[in-house]
Amino acid sequence: MYRREFIKTLLLIASGLISPAKALSRLTELLPRTDFKMPVLFIGHGSPENVLLDNPFTRSLKNLGQTLPKPEVVLCISAHWLTKGTYINASPTPQQIFDFYGFTPELYKVKYTPKGHPVLADLIHRLSNGRIKLSSEWGIDHGAWTVLIHLFPNADIPVVQLSIDYRKPLSYHYEIAKILSELRYRKVLIVGSGNITHNLRRATWHDPEAPPPEWSLEFDYWTTQMLEKGNHQALINYLKNHKHAKIAHPEPSHWIPIIYTIALHDIDKEPLTYPYQGFQYGLSMRCVKFG
Ligand code: ZN
Repeated sequence: MYRREFIKTLLLIASGLISPAKALSRLTELLPRTDFKMPVLFIGHGSPENVLLDNPFTRSLKNLGQTLPKPEVVLCISAHWLTKGTYINASPTPQQIFDFYGFTPELYKVKYTPKGHPVLADLIHRLSNGRIKLSSEWGIDHGAWTVLIHLFPNADIPVVQLSIDYRKPLSYHYEIAKILSELRYRKVLIVGSGNITHNLRRATWHDPEAPPPEWSLEFDYWTTQMLEKGNHQALINYLKNHKHAKIAHPEPSHWIPIIYTIALHDIDKEPLTYPYQGFQYGLSMRCVKFG
């Protein structure tokens, strides 16, 4: 079935027959619309070493995975796939990427290889009217797999990754995320993976449990205030709105994923909760569940 769908879609791509409207009806064939809206997650991924650790953070992810409605597909926006242009991975078998260095050899032996979903990737490309392009150059990087391995340890849910166009303003990411909102009705779990504070030069490398520095604590707290007020513009314009913003994020890669997730939050109707809150190496590991 899966293969037949893939071939059918490839034929349609080749003949150029799918418009955004047609893509929506094809999406309905593939993933029927439900009344239920899948939650959206922001996960603070922190150090890859969490893959091997049993700690309050990893236990909270495991618990979250067990309590979530089972998705058909996971769409992940990781801080670690930065591109010129916005891409979605369309490989049927995305490679697991070990994009980190200097960790224990054991970590490089961990396997997490869920299938991709090329048909859905292509439909997202069509729904976006080509703004989201197809790619098979990436796979599943550590921003994605080191958290998904706790959420869905059996690797039995297909994963597609969406890249971050690093040249674009944050308002662009907010806009692109809106294109994905329909997927929440199709049992697609959208996961942003970054960190609410992320300054590796100022991390407390000597002690993961060290009390968080003031800039990290305050920026994390301010983020919760803005999330709870639904003040998305403040979060988009974070550099102007918090005195520690530039210390919390010397560059924006780990902040951008939260912009995708807030864009999908229906502030008036959906609850916002924190499946995990805490710090590792002084950096915020807070996770947010929208809906
Ligand atoms: Zn990272």
